[in-house]
Parts: sequence; structure tokens; C-alpha cells
Amino acid sequence: MQELLLKWYDREKRDLPWRQTQDPYAVWVSEIMLQQTRAETVRAYWTRFLQAFPTVQALARAEEETVLKLWEGLGYYSRARNLHWCAQAVCERFAGRFPEDVAGLRSLPGIGAYTAGAVASIAFGVRTAAVDGNVERVVARLRGIREDVGTPSVRRALLAEAEALVPAARPGDFNQAMMELGARICLPAPRCELCPIRAHCDAFDAGDAASLPVRQRKAPPRAVPMGMALVFHGDRVLLRRREEALLRGLWCFPGYEGETEGEAVAQRLAADGVCCTFLRTLGHARHVFTHRVWEMTLLSFSAASDACPPGWQWADREQLAALPLPTAVRAARALAADILQATLE
Ligand code: SF4
Repeated sequence: MQELLLKWYDREKRDLPWRQTQDPYAVWVSEIMLQQTRAETVRAYWTRFLQAFPTVQALARAEEETVLKLWEGLGYYSRARNLHWCAQAVCERFAGRFPEDVAGLRSLPGIGAYTAGAVASIAFGVRTAAVDGNVERVVARLRGIREDVGTPSVRRALLAEAEALVPAARPGDFNQAMMELGARICLPAPRCELCPIRAHCDAFDAGDAASLPVRQRKAPPRAVPMGMALVFHGDRVLLRRREEALLRGLWCFPGYEGETEGEAVAQRLAADGVCCTFLRTLGHARHVFTHRVWEMTLLSFSAASDACPPGWQWADREQLAALPLPTAVRAARALAADILQATLE
């Protein structure tokens, strides 16, 4: 099975830039970016990121804001912050060289079992598995695991099966081949007719591949109404650096959960030290996070002065474009940019 899969991989693998390197730093950046993001999207981000920060030392020295700016649009910003902290930890604790074993890698911030397995096997040739969602699906089908993979004991059994599959030769390529198979052939709706290892697949034999892996349904993300305040003064709009766990450290328009009425949001702004008058409701926008959905009402205000509480700042049109703002407020940013442009014309 391993040989068949590697042959398929050698023949069919996509030409992705991080596959041209075994530099642990470059591999690690690609693995973090690839979490929850498609390879085709990651391609341009990875290239830009490596140009800006060619070494782990360069990343460790960078300003967090520069790192977040390069991450803008990839989402899940905690990954970018962890990347930055992890680079600093590699420099401080390991003199700028990534540890070569799974335990050493896992001791670093933001590196979990999957990333440690991927970096150890791809960059250092360690015989260890790297089980992401795609690989989990492939292993569950290959080995016919038909119990809920969210259960800890079933998960442990699946990981043991995944470890046992990794060959001593080319473990990094094998892991990437499993990921590639999961991303292109062993999809949620499997394309078994194209699969190079179907002769070894339990689920293919049993004809139940499409129903595996078994996973209990998670609760849907919770809808949160949110008043998003676009506060203007002359040719500038007010931004606040978020302190909440969600999107922490990113510049954002002041948003108030549970308040969608202009007057109520004006009161909340006043309590935060911003004296302003509600102008009008501009529209609505929606952003889905993993556990919550922001149902945003976009509201405009006129500030009485340019007084600015600590941790807030006024941004003109150029600054608004240059600061790292989360994708969640893309619609609000576009509206604010249009309004600022109109004040200039
Ligand atoms: Fe997945 Fe089908 Fe291949 Fe089995 S035969 S590994 S279910 S694509």
C-alpha cells in the first residue's frame, strides 16, 4: 500500500512551492498556513511571508503588526500570533535551530501533534505520522474505523493505526501523500474509482466509504448580534485594538455585542470615552467564525472631537488600508473607505 501511494504521489503531486524545500522553518510556516486553508490560497501567502521573513530569526525580530498584516485575509489570526511567539521561542530556547524530534517540537507554542509530526517527518525524516482532518478521514476508511472519531479512545486507536502505516523510508513524502490523497481523491464524497490504494481499503470493500469517518454532530455556531460603529471625524475613522480573545491585537471598528441600535451604541461609545452623535444605519454584514456568527449592524457616528482613548486611533484612508484588519470587518472597512473618500472629494 505504501509503495503504491508513494508512486501515485510522485506522479500526481501538485507543484507547491513548500515541497521544494526541507528547511524546517519554511515547512513549519507552510503547515501552520495550511491549517483550515486551501493549498491554492496558501501559495501566494507563503511566498510573500518567506520573502518578508526568510529565516526564523527575521520572523522573531519582526513587529507583531507586520506579521499580522502579512496574514491578513488568511483568518484564524491566533495562528499568526503563535507563529511569531514560536519563532521567538526557537531563537531564545534553541539558538535559532528547530528541534529535530516530535517532543522538542511540541514543546514550542502553537505546535501541536499534527504540526510536530509534519515538520519532524518532512524536514528531518523522522518516522512519525501527521494526522490532520484529511488524513483522519483516509485512515478511518482504510482501516474501517466505524466508531465516533470524536471519542478519545477511538481517536487514540486511529492515531495508532496512522503511526503504524508510516514507512521507515520517505516518511515525510508518505505523510504528504496521505494528505494529498485526502485533499484530492479521498474527499468527503470519495472518488474511489481514481484511488491508487483501493485494493487495500476496508471501506471500499465494504462500500461505506462515504459514511466514514463517523463523527457526532457539533453544535452550530452561535449567532451574536453586534453593533459595529464607524465613527468619523473629518477625514478619519476611529479604530480600536481588540483586547478580546477573539481577534486579539487586530485593529477593528469598535463593536458591541448585543447592541444594534444607534443610540445604545452611542452610549457604549461614550462610556468608552468617545463622545459622538449617531448618524444612520449603513447596512448589515455577517461573518462566520468557528463557534460564533457575528450578525453585524453597521452604524455611522460623528465624533464631537478627535479625543482618543488609549488603545484607539484615528485612521485616514491610507492608514485604514495599511493596518491589519480582520476579514470579518471587510464590508465595514469598504464602507468606511468609501465614506472617507467622499469627504475628500
Ligand atoms: Fe478513500 Fe476510496 Fe481510496 Fe478508500 S478507496 S482510501 S475510501 S478514496
